[in-house]
Amino acid sequence: MKKKNLSFGLLSEIKLDDPETFEDKIFLTLDVDWAHDEVFSDSIEFLRELGAKATWFITHETGVLDDIKDDPDFELGIHPNFNPLLDGSSKGAKNAEEVIDGVLKIVPEAKSVRSHSMSQNFRLLDLFSDRGLTHDSNDFIPEQSGMELLPYPHWTGLLRVPFFWEDNVQCMYRHNTPIRDLVCRKGLKVFNFHPIHVFLNTEKLSRYEDSRSQHYKPELLINLRSSSANGSREQLRQLIKIV
Ligand SMILES: [Zn+2]
Repeated sequence: MKKKNLSFGLLSEIKLDDPETFEDKIFLTLDVDWAHDEVFSDSIEFLRELGAKATWFITHETGVLDDIKDDPDFELGIHPNFNPLLDGSSKGAKNAEEVIDGVLKIVPEAKSVRSHSMSQNFRLLDLFSDRGLTHDSNDFIPEQSGMELLPYPHWTGLLRVPFFWEDNVQCMYRHNTPIRDLVCRKGLKVFNFHPIHVFLNTEKLSRYEDSRSQHYKPELLINLRSSSANGSREQLRQLIKIV
């Protein structure tokens, strides 16, 4: 069932002083997380077929980006990964600046940022702002909090855009509010998906973990797709159909 007045928005179009840019909007975001090209493209085609807009948080260079760079329904943001610095395993970037600049080289037009694993602190937010990024989505406040979320200004000039639903998180909570009820919530409604979970229609994390060895073999991975109505792909389909 369609809800009146709802439409899709892109994260970097949110303006603090213009509630129309976020009220009655649904924001779809996807953290690409180094997905195989076919897994990445599967999500792109899925969104196009259903006519949705989305903000993609990009992790790596791939020819697939050429397919979405100039699509007005899509926005490309960055998804820097600071985890190798944190756990001491980094073989490339020596510091946070190099991590950010590395991914900005791939997506120089990016205005939006969400870190892998949502890494954030004062210094990182300063660096995001210094690099000309305008919208940060590193605050996750789960829908289970019942809180009404709003974009808010950060002193660096960044606009912070919290999100309240994520496909892998819904696998970890025992109780999730149905999508059809979430879209009726007041305030900001930002949903986050991952191409790998959309591809697998992940409904439980063991499906994802047990398939790790085939994440880069899409011709085999497709056999592991769940048929559950609660999986990521079906939840995304349901959400788009409501809007
Ligand atoms: Zn990630």
